[in-house]
Amino acid sequence: MTQLAQPTSEQASAETERVNHWIANARVAGTSGRSGPVYNPATGTIARQVDFASVEEVDAAVAAARDAFPAWRATSISRRTEIMFRIRNLVEQHREEIAAHLTREHGKVRTDALGEVARGLENLEFATGIPHLLKGGFSEQVSSGIDVYQIRQPLGVVAGITPFNFPAMVPMWMFANAIACGNTFVLKPSEKDPSASVYIGELLKEAGLPDGVYNVVHGDKVAVDRILEHPDIAAVSFVGSTPIARYIYETGTKNGKRVQALGGAKNHMIVLPDADIEMAADAAVSAAYGSAGERCMAISVVVAVGDVADPLVDAIAERLPKIKVGPGNEEGSEMGPLITKEHRDKVASYLESGVSQGATLRADGRQHVLYSESEGFFLGVSLLDNVTPEMECYRNEIFGPVLEVVRAHDYPEALGIVNDNQYGNGTAIFTRDGGAARQYQFDVNVGMVGINVPIPVPVAYYSFGGWKASLFGDIHMYGPEGIQFYTRGKVVTARWPDPGTSSVDLGFPRTR
Ligand code: NAD
Repeated sequence: MTQLAQPTSEQASAETERVNHWIANARVAGTSGRSGPVYNPATGTIARQVDFASVEEVDAAVAAARDAFPAWRATSISRRTEIMFRIRNLVEQHREEIAAHLTREHGKVRTDALGEVARGLENLEFATGIPHLLKGGFSEQVSSGIDVYQIRQPLGVVAGITPFNFPAMVPMWMFANAIACGNTFVLKPSEKDPSASVYIGELLKEAGLPDGVYNVVHGDKVAVDRILEHPDIAAVSFVGSTPIARYIYETGTKNGKRVQALGGAKNHMIVLPDADIEMAADAAVSAAYGSAGERCMAISVVVAVGDVADPLVDAIAERLPKIKVGPGNEEGSEMGPLITKEHRDKVASYLESGVSQGATLRADGRQHVLYSESEGFFLGVSLLDNVTPEMECYRNEIFGPVLEVVRAHDYPEALGIVNDNQYGNGTAIFTRDGGAARQYQFDVNVGMVGINVPIPVPVAYYSFGGWKASLFGDIHMYGPEGIQFYTRGKVVTARWPDPGTSSVDLGFPRTR
């Protein structure tokens, strides 16, 4: 990540459109003198510049959040709920505008962008249930005249650091529960597609969220490092790549913060010999190439078991020429460009390395006309067959429209491949055998499992989290675990004795 992206001469016109910070319900122009380019990935041009925060600017956002916290945590649950409902309704009403921001800066096609907003909305809907979610426990008469009860209280200022691939949904995974619980929030969104987070800030303000409860600082490592060391930030939620997730977890916890850090993925889809091949091929293609493969729950590896491999690979290959690659805002486009040229070229380089290490290139995305003739960051869909776990293209998260096929002789070999992989975010099994599926769910070392479902992103009333190098920390994101993450328990032991009934007793308090 660049610390300072210098505008070139062709960027001069983009200087006029600037993405500012959002602090205390107002756009705040950056003063650090540093900024980064925000591309339109479909055209390859720089559309605007985003301010990069200095330490002082992060401090200003944290101060706004800290100042807002006492009143916000004291705001009645019914009032907070009312605001959550209004936020939910405004996001729903403005889903097209949010989606348009996503298409413009991320590149994903409109229908996919609307899907992202819909999955984000689920989290806002979950958070409208905060009166129920914050209920504690009460034990009456644990000893004579003594009651014990537990309450859950917010942490204070909490921060979110989010990736480029879901610029609206992942922040909603975090801030919906965080603010509903009574915390105040500072978001550092991806610098690659920052506009949606500020637009959402405007909606939150319109919904009646008080100044300072939701703040956005844009930027790079300078902003992230300040968040990780800031003494007034109690907890950090992170979603992004594994090396950065590890760094965030280690640094944040070293500084005494509660941290959940979700990392990268390499999601395997096992196809057993009894599977419906047409259904499995449809699922593999949809899950591998949707959003140009830039989803942490994308299927990137099909593990074909036994003699299903040849017909399955043929069925997948047959579907590929029909996928319409094009700008996200063009009617009929099914797959847009990648996020940057550098990323597109890195993804393409895995095709070369796969072939040089013995894989078979069944479909080459570099042959797509937009790869060579567009200034946008396009790459067509690619299929690499006969991939083995030793190959570079297998060992790394490619995060692009490349589907790999690994062939396994039997179920134990297939299971071993999945369990040996460093990542454990999502996985799927395709079969018509309920017993085999149940065994897989029991055996596999992965946090989210789909049975004939290729992208098993949990609904918002469950929680989201991978295993192994896909998550650092022990609390999953959103849903009930999100409430747990953004609150801490306090247990009260109380009695209301009548006067004159007490005596001195130096023994340890007993309940019997
Ligand atoms: P990234 O790790 O490059 O960036 C994530 C965030 O960290 C951004 O806000 C970025 O500004 C910041 N960052 C980047 N480099 C940094 C550094 N050196 N020091 C401090 N902060 C830094 O990830 P990305 O490219 O934006 O997103 C794609 C990655 O996110 C993929 O690996 C994908 O699998 C992962 N992801 C995971 C999940 C999940 O739920 N597990 C969900 C979405 C994306």
